Parts: sequence; structure tokens; C-alpha cells
Amino acid sequence: MQPLARPGHSARSAFTTCIGRVRNPGLAARLSAATTTIVNASAAFDRAAAQGTLNQIVPIATVAPDITTEEMGKVYTQRMAKNGAPGRDIYDEIFVSSPQGRCPLCAQRSVATLDHHLPKAHYPALAVAPLNLVPACSDCNKAKLDAIPTCAEEVALHPYYDDLGGEGWLVARVVQTRPTALRFRVAVPAVWSPVLATRVLNHFQTLGLATLYASESAEELINIRHQLVTLRASDAVAGVRNELGRRAVSCEVGRQNGWRAAAYRAWHESDWFCAGGFEPT
Ligand SMILES: [Zn+2]
Repeated sequence: MQPLARPGHSARSAFTTCIGRVRNPGLAARLSAATTTIVNASAAFDRAAAQGTLNQIVPIATVAPDITTEEMGKVYTQRMAKNGAPGRDIYDEIFVSSPQGRCPLCAQRSVATLDHHLPKAHYPALAVAPLNLVPACSDCNKAKLDAIPTCAEEVALHPYYDDLGGEGWLVARVVQTRPTALRFRVAVPAVWSPVLATRVLNHFQTLGLATLYASESAEELINIRHQLVTLRASDAVAGVRNELGRRAVSCEVGRQNGWRAAAYRAWHESDWFCAGGFEPT
């Protein structure tokens, strides 16, 4: 998970912008009357997210005084997410807020949508609240489903609030088979609280990151295998190990807990791999 800067728009400005062109006077008046509820819901979300207690936000089907879940869903789909909608600029600002266009949840795939951190089907008052909208890839968005956290451990990691700090926590292990593979896992740093550790482990499992990173690293190996074969022929095992070590350091500087850093570190430290385990047969 990669931390992201918070969106610049407030819940009030986002909601007001989204409902700015409602033609039906009755609906416009009812939506406008819900502004205070929307603003208060976002403020409560902000406080709870900062404390890791989003599980204490109660799902409420009606946005007081009388906006239904379905109506708020339409405010998002038709008045924010749709091309040309009044709130589309706000949607786009959040969509492009992740560096390199990478999904902050998996740190690998491209952003394809906005994910409602707390699902709009259960928390309609947060349907267009910028703090509840996170750029994400399709796979991460689908994997999260419409889960409602029932305890602090079930609160999903949130890129605007959760920073896993400078600790190394992603590690890989070389599987000594041919063709070889890497097994990725979370190595919990001592400074993490038990709740944070469980949240990160849940994040890793729910989003299938071990499988994703294993696949990406297998592809990486295909691309460097010829170089490793050449290095071993000219500089023996030490040449292979040194090259993998240099790449590990460079990747760790670039993205400390990226799968590449973990992969190169694991390959560098494996005697079996450096001695030729990288060959397919
Ligand atoms: Zn993703």
C-alpha cells in the first residue's frame, strides 16, 4: 500500500458541485437539505479514519432528512462519475492523484476507477465524500467488495490515513524448484501494533498480492535470465550475486516495499539461485 495525499475538495464542495444541475425542483430541494448530513458524515469519517476506528461508523440507509441509498448512488454515478457530469472534475482529480497512475492498494496495476473505502451501498452519506474515494485498479476495487468492518482489525488500509512507515515489511523466499518461483509474505515489524499487523495481513490476503507479485517476479526473471547466464559464465556465482545485490539496493531506494526490492533481495541472498537456480531446467 502506497500512501497518498488527501483530496483538496471538501465534502461540502463536492456534494454542492454534484447537485448543482438538478432540474427537478423537489429533488433539488431534498438533496440540498441533506448537505448538513453529508458534511457531518465526512467529518465523522475523517476523525474515525485518523484513529483507525472506521468500524464504529454505523451504516445508515437514509441520508437525513429523506434521501435514499439509491438516490445517493445516482448522485455518484450520474452526477460525479459520468463523463460531463458536474462533479466529474473532482472525480478526475482524485483519479489522477496517484503517482505514475499506479493503484495505491496493490502498488502495481493501473488506476481504473475510484473505490469507495466504505461502500456507498451501506454508507450512502459518504457516496461523494472525497475522503472516502480512493483511486484504485479494477481488481483491487472488486476484491474489496462491499465489506462492512465489524472490528478495528477489519478496517481496510486507507492511503490517505495509513502510512506503514519506513520499515521493511514485504519479503520473498526462493522456491527451489525448476522453474523457480518466489513466495511473498508480510514480515511484521516489531513497531507495528497487533491491530495494524492484522490489517496489513488482511490487505495482503484480500487483494491477492502474493499471487500478483509472484506472477510479476516470474516475468521479471524471464527478462533478466539471459544476463544472469552471461554473468555466471564470465564472473561465476559472485558476479551473479553482486548484480542482484546492486539491483536490490536500487529497487529498495526507489520503492522500499515494492515487489521488485523483495524479489532481488531474495534472489541475491539465495546461494541456490545465484549458483544457477535461475535457469528454467
Ligand atoms: Zn490495485
